[in-house]
Amino acid sequence: MVAGHEGAGIVVSIGNDVESLKIGDKIGVKMLNRICGYCENCHISGRDNKCENRIDLMVHKFGTFQQYVTIAEGEAVRLPQNVDLKKAAPLVCAGVTVYKGLKETGCIAGEIVAICGASGGLGSFAIQFAKNAGFEVIAIDLGEEKGKHCKNLGADYYLDASKSDLVKRVHEITNDRGPHGVIVVANDIKAFEQAFEYVRDFGTIVGLGVPEKMEFRADLMNILNRHLTIKGSILGNRTDYKEAVALLANGKIDIPIEVHGLSELGKILERIHKGEIMGRVVLDTSK
Ligand SMILES: [Zn+2]
Repeated sequence: MVAGHEGAGIVVSIGNDVESLKIGDKIGVKMLNRICGYCENCHISGRDNKCENRIDLMVHKFGTFQQYVTIAEGEAVRLPQNVDLKKAAPLVCAGVTVYKGLKETGCIAGEIVAICGASGGLGSFAIQFAKNAGFEVIAIDLGEEKGKHCKNLGADYYLDASKSDLVKRVHEITNDRGPHGVIVVANDIKAFEQAFEYVRDFGTIVGLGVPEKMEFRADLMNILNRHLTIKGSILGNRTDYKEAVALLANGKIDIPIEVHGLSELGKILERIHKGEIMGRVVLDTSK
């Protein structure tokens, strides 16, 4: 199986029945490659990304680590011509996932959102989407040196989770009340468990990251007594894609990327596993 589940490119060929795309159009290629249009989720507004009969890249067909890929007309993410494909590629999964995740927190402008795992690809997008939505942003990650990256993207605060007393420090900058919403993209389940401790009463924690260890411990009394909401979310629906792409096209979103040839994939994966990459690496499949 060929991996890769997000990409962007130019339409080089179209099927006979395709009406809304033409050769030369720029499109994003998401993991969701085809939906049926008739299942229960397809018929409920906003749930098309959970089509029960969907065809996914890397599950049912080869992913984007190749030069050409096919996609159903309805699932091709329309990109305005002014959009830089290198910037659009990571938006198609990482970007939309956190865009949707921030919506799921239910936060409104002026409220405080904590982003755990803020320096990586998802976190970097999350900081910018959150600032665009008018949220106050607490970026959390491991190590002091990632703070500069997060602040450059617009984070109001940066906290190093590798130091002790994270909960206390979150409370210090939120008048002892905690953030209204938390999105967790860190690849350590501890980050998710900690969020239960510092989130505000009536707050919402949205799990988006996929750590190696998935099971978590939570104190039910803490959840019910403080009216906490725990949510999961993956990718986004067609509306989320449309909105996120518009923010990219308007220059509101611009996360740092590194571009490397597809032939360097092995080296890149090593760096990802060491946690060395800030922002996102984009692979040029022609190299
Ligand atoms: Zn369906």
